[in-house]
Amino acid sequence: MNVLVINCGSSSLKYQLLDMTTEEVLAKGLVERIGIEGSVLVHEAPGQDKVKLVQPMKTHKEALNLVMAALVDPAHGVVKSLEEISAVGHRAVHGAETFSDSVVIDDAVIKSLEECSELAPLHNPANLIGINACRELLPNVPMVAVFDTAFHQTLPGEAFMYPLPYELYEKFKIRKYGFHGTSHKFVSQAAAELMGKKLEDLKLISCHLGNGASLCAIKNGKSVDTSMGLTPLAGLEMGTRCGDIDPAIIPFLVNKGYTVDEVDNIMNKKSGVLGVSGISSDFRDVEGAANSGNKRAQLALDIFHYRVRTTIGAYVAAMDGVDGIIFTAGLGENSTTSRAAICGGLKYLGITLDPVTNSKRGEATVISDKDSKTTVMVIPTNEELMIARDTLALAK
Ligand code: ADP
Repeated sequence: MNVLVINCGSSSLKYQLLDMTTEEVLAKGLVERIGIEGSVLVHEAPGQDKVKLVQPMKTHKEALNLVMAALVDPAHGVVKSLEEISAVGHRAVHGAETFSDSVVIDDAVIKSLEECSELAPLHNPANLIGINACRELLPNVPMVAVFDTAFHQTLPGEAFMYPLPYELYEKFKIRKYGFHGTSHKFVSQAAAELMGKKLEDLKLISCHLGNGASLCAIKNGKSVDTSMGLTPLAGLEMGTRCGDIDPAIIPFLVNKGYTVDEVDNIMNKKSGVLGVSGISSDFRDVEGAANSGNKRAQLALDIFHYRVRTTIGAYVAAMDGVDGIIFTAGLGENSTTSRAAICGGLKYLGITLDPVTNSKRGEATVISDKDSKTTVMVIPTNEELMIARDTLALAK
């Protein structure tokens, strides 16, 4: 059974076709600049040269049409006909309180997704465009929506409620939702396997550290706290996002003459590692500058490591202990120095890293040494595979 996974952004579309008997990727690709000049599709299949198609794509439907054509192309395609696609899994960003798990898409689900759009105005409409275009192109194929927020619907009230007037929760659904749920779920399952234990018996902290970054406390397989909030702006310092700041800074800046949109733009696009270092939002660039003695680059990294470490401390308190800490995503999987800097302040948890395994990159491995009281692991995340697994389970 082949499952097509679609991740639709406002002007981009990522896809993967997986053979779920082996969980192997048959083909994957990326379309960029949909609806803008210079639309481009890059399609790859293992063992074949990359195919690049530069052609105007005014809509997501046109882009998806070209993706389907690439998948069945006699030269570089990987299936004979679209009938070999048994189901489609869509990444959906915000499921609000409506969706606590993945769901088979029907008209009612689409209506609910439209209602959730208010909470994710940049992401959900793009996801919906992708879903609707796919339904037109593959009308008889079952489709499943997999939400970034769903895994965190198990948070208890004390973790998800903001201490604002209660009617703001009732009126506008203002609460912590959390994101990266598909990734946190995937790596927690893989960590339990690596530790040779049952997920239901473990207290884990998953650190998804990429351009966007969040931590998740996972007790007995369930998310009990996470660092992003109503939106993905909350929590850690990120590539360009500020994470948690004193909320009074916002009216302070507005009183200084900034518009609300300007403040929003500063917090989302000009802050974080970029804002502090003044160099780049990319951790590799900032690590490079810090190594050459740039003090602001070093400060940007110090803030990042400090926030990850203190949030780990908070989640140990939330779960009354921790058995395993997981590092994942671009920085978490690759930056030996960041992992060492974060874990260097966790000696009270009995953590000691093994410098040899910690120097490995991008493979699932235990990086704490054998005497460490808490197991520390690197687990490469695979959100597409998690989406495909959920899709297979529901669309069968
Ligand atoms: P996102 O999916 O949120 O865009 P990723 O998970 O791809 O982010 O992570 C991207 C981040 O990971 C970038 O800031 C990049 O610099 C960082 N990264 C990737 N490889 C390394 C590395 N070897 N050392 C340090 N940082 C790295």
